[in-house]
Amino acid sequence: MAQLDVRHKLEILADAAKYDASCASSGTAKRDSRGGKGIGSTEGMGICHAYAPDGRCISLLKILLTNSCIFDCHYCVNRKSSNVRRARFTAKEVVDLTLAFYKRNYVEGLFLSSGIIRSPDYTMEQIVEVARSLREDHDFRGYIHLKTIPDADPELVRLAGIHSDRVSINIELPTERGLKRLAPEKDGQRIEAAMADVAHAIDDAADATRYKHAPRLAPAGQSTQMIVGADSATDSDIVLRASSLYGRYKLRRVYYSAFSPIPDASAVLPLRRPPLMREHRLYQSDWLMRFYGFQPQDVVAAAGPTGMLPLDIDPKLAWALKHRERFPVDLNRAPKEMLLRIPGLGVKAVNAILASRRLRRLRLDDIARLTVSIARLRPFIVAEDWRPTLLADRADLKPLVAPPREQLELFG
Ligand code: SF4
Repeated sequence: MAQLDVRHKLEILADAAKYDASCASSGTAKRDSRGGKGIGSTEGMGICHAYAPDGRCISLLKILLTNSCIFDCHYCVNRKSSNVRRARFTAKEVVDLTLAFYKRNYVEGLFLSSGIIRSPDYTMEQIVEVARSLREDHDFRGYIHLKTIPDADPELVRLAGIHSDRVSINIELPTERGLKRLAPEKDGQRIEAAMADVAHAIDDAADATRYKHAPRLAPAGQSTQMIVGADSATDSDIVLRASSLYGRYKLRRVYYSAFSPIPDASAVLPLRRPPLMREHRLYQSDWLMRFYGFQPQDVVAAAGPTGMLPLDIDPKLAWALKHRERFPVDLNRAPKEMLLRIPGLGVKAVNAILASRRLRRLRLDDIARLTVSIARLRPFIVAEDWRPTLLADRADLKPLVAPPREQLELFG
C-alpha cells in the first residue's frame, strides 16, 4: 500500500464510513470537563447533531480505522474483492485526529468502525486501543461509539464497552437467508451471541455501580444496523426481527439503512436502491413500537399481505384504516393506549389531552390547537361537539386523510 498522508487517509476512510447509519449519540451518561479536568463533554452548548441530506448523522468524527477487509460481503464497498483505494490509520493517528477535531468544535465525539484485517481479535485490539488512549492518556470525555466485531474475543468487546459510550454490532441483514447469500463469511448466530455477551456485560456493570470505582460499560447501550432493500426481506420480516432483537438484547436502537448501490457491485445485488421513504416508514414503525405501544403484529397488520408498508401514508394511519372498527375514539373518555393510536396525534398531544380533560370536556377547537391538520383527524375522533357519524364509515376515507402527494425526487 503506498504511503498516504493523514489528510488523504481521512478522505478515503471518512468516505468509506458513510454507509454506516448507526451513529446517533442519544442516551449517554452526562460527563463534562468543567472545573479544568480533562477535555470534551457529552452535553451542553456547542454540541449539536447535524444530519446529511440523506438523514445520516454527521456530527461525530465518523471514520474507519481501515477500509481493507479479509471478508467479501457483497453489499460492502470495502469487501476484499472491491476495487477501491485502500488506507489504514494507526491508532495514534485516530486519537490525534479526534482530539484535533474536538478542540476545533467540529465534532462531539468519535464513531469508529473498521474492516477486518489479519483477524477479528487483531482488529478489535486496534479499535480498543484508540478508545483506551483517548480516555486514559488524554482524559477525553467526549462521546465514543465503537463498532465491535462479532468474532472477536468477548474480553476485547468488554474492554470496548468500558472505554466507549455505545457499542454496536451490525446484524447486517434481516434474515439468515439474506446473510448467507450476501455475507457468507458471517454467521447470524455468532452475531447474536456477541450481542448477548454485550447485553450481559452491560447488565453486570450496571449491577456493580453500587461500588464507587466499578467501571461503567457502554452507558448509552448497544445498537445495531440492518440494511434494507439489498435482499428480498419484506418490511414485516424487518420489523419482526428488530422487535426480537430489542426484546432479547435490550438494544437501544435498531438503525435501518437503505441499501445504496456501490461501485463495481456484485451481480447478486439489486441495481437500484430502495426508495428512501421505505427506510423512513421503518423508522416510523420502530417509533410506534418503542413509544406508542404498538406491537410488531400491529405493524405487520399495517403492512398487509405483501409484507410491505405503504409508502404514501404512515404506518399509524395504515393501521387505523385497516382497523376502522376501533374508531372513532372518544377524546374525553378513551384510555391513553387508544389515544396513542389516533393518526395525527403524537405523544405530547396525547399527554396534553389527558391533562386538559381533567379540567373540562374537550371540544374540536381544543384538539385543533394540538395537531397540524384537524381535517385528517376528524374521522377518527369524538369530541364534546363532534361525532364523525357517516365520515368514519366512508369507503373512500383514505384520500380524505392521507397527506397530499409530494413531487418525488427526480434522481431518487
Ligand atoms: S466484514 Fe464489514 S468491512 Fe468487511 S466486507 Fe463485510 S461489511 Fe465490509
